[in-house]
Amino acid sequence: MLRIALLGLSHEANTFSAHPVDAAVVEGATLRGAEIVERHAGGTSTVSGYLAACDKHSVEAVPLVMTHLVPSGPITADALDARTEEMVSALRRSGPFDGVLVDLHGAAVSAQIADVDGHLLRSIRAAVGPDVPIGVSLDLHANISAAMCEHADVLNTYRTNPHVDAREVAEEVGDLTIRAARGEIRPALAYLPVPTTINILCQNTDEPPMRDLMDRVRALMDEPGVLSATVAEGYPYADVPEMGMSVVVITDGDDAAAAAHARALAGEVWNRRAQFDVTGTTPAQAIAAAQRAEGTPGAPVLLLDVGDNIGAGSPGDSVVLLGAARAAGFASLLTIVADPVTAAACTAAGVGAQVTVTLGARTDPATGPPVEATATVLALHDGTFDATGPVHAGWSHFEAGPSAAVRLDTGQTVIVTTEVVLPFSVDQLTTLGLAPADFAAIVAKGVHSPLAGYGPHVADIVRVDTPGITAANLHRFSYLNRRRPLYPFEIHTTFDGGVA
Ligand SMILES: [Zn+2]
Repeated sequence: MLRIALLGLSHEANTFSAHPVDAAVVEGATLRGAEIVERHAGGTSTVSGYLAACDKHSVEAVPLVMTHLVPSGPITADALDARTEEMVSALRRSGPFDGVLVDLHGAAVSAQIADVDGHLLRSIRAAVGPDVPIGVSLDLHANISAAMCEHADVLNTYRTNPHVDAREVAEEVGDLTIRAARGEIRPALAYLPVPTTINILCQNTDEPPMRDLMDRVRALMDEPGVLSATVAEGYPYADVPEMGMSVVVITDGDDAAAAAHARALAGEVWNRRAQFDVTGTTPAQAIAAAQRAEGTPGAPVLLLDVGDNIGAGSPGDSVVLLGAARAAGFASLLTIVADPVTAAACTAAGVGAQVTVTLGARTDPATGPPVEATATVLALHDGTFDATGPVHAGWSHFEAGPSAAVRLDTGQTVIVTTEVVLPFSVDQLTTLGLAPADFAAIVAKGVHSPLAGYGPHVADIVRVDTPGITAANLHRFSYLNRRRPLYPFEIHTTFDGGVA
């Protein structure tokens, strides 16, 4: 029976974040051996797909070590060294293996290494030797590198955003890797970076232009001899040389055909580059839209604070939209701000008390200035709640820590939390006695993920081009390491379509 090793380290590293991932954080996000099977068997994750592929082919899956980190800053050098060493020694100790299945995100960065995913695959390759097939399933936001493609035999990404096909793609990767281990196929991989980025506002694969590109990918996968194909969106909040879009095509043994298909697919990406460079709504425009909608009671507008996207590593304490509402004299706005100092002050003061607050923008000056106001405490709660309605990716339990609902002297309502909480559920409002229908505008700190929970409660959505470490407008960032030229930064960038 073939033996297939399972291991991984999945991390989306925002290099503009001030919160590094140390060894303790890595350890807290790690499973080993049987724990991996217990957590993932029968589920919808990448590891679930790998286990299913091993089952289908009646091969032995040997789970070693698996880490899944919440998006945040780069990993410290010590933490990465320790985890790399653990992976390599586990492969040597538990081997030999006939194949390796690796779960990576594709946008991991450490304090010293820009391409952590390539580094890990190089280390895994060195441990198992040149003849053992290595398969990798990545996030659609992978910044794919030449090193990743050099050391992997099979490599693919999700094809959906929001990501709902992790298991499906991993099953494909597992299937191809096992068939390669049996000598049934010989994967020939072509990788081609395309010198463009795609704005987060138009990354949804259910809408053009990404829907059209993914239709093209699926059509390509049906062509004779093609085993696998993808267009990676890339992750623009990692300032690394590989940042940007790329294509990967794998054929059965035909390098020239893989390269030709990759060039054609890359051309489809490049020809749409102007559609990737959209302009968002400004905070003032968004507040004006909410004011216009104020005449329709019970039908709030959801203002998505793209620059403070908690699911992509932001701190959740921007008060830019709150400040814009105050400046415009617009009172019927509800926002949630993570601010442990203010939450503690409100909790100590008690319900009904008046407090003077300096609210938000404690992490990034661009997301302020802090709001200086007098506030009345409306309600207090311990911050623990369970979602009762639909929620993105099946999250259900939330812990915001001690939380307060306050009303500012200018009329706006703010939920102040101790912890940073994913903006996925309106139950965060109702636990504090607030109802969505009582407001003309509600702020959620995300781009696509809040819609599952908030969508049924709002009449309209506006994605706002706010500042912060997850801003849609990439011209806000000072990049030191990205490749040049890269569209749209260098607007006259050219692309000859040659395979790199
Ligand atoms: Zn992603």
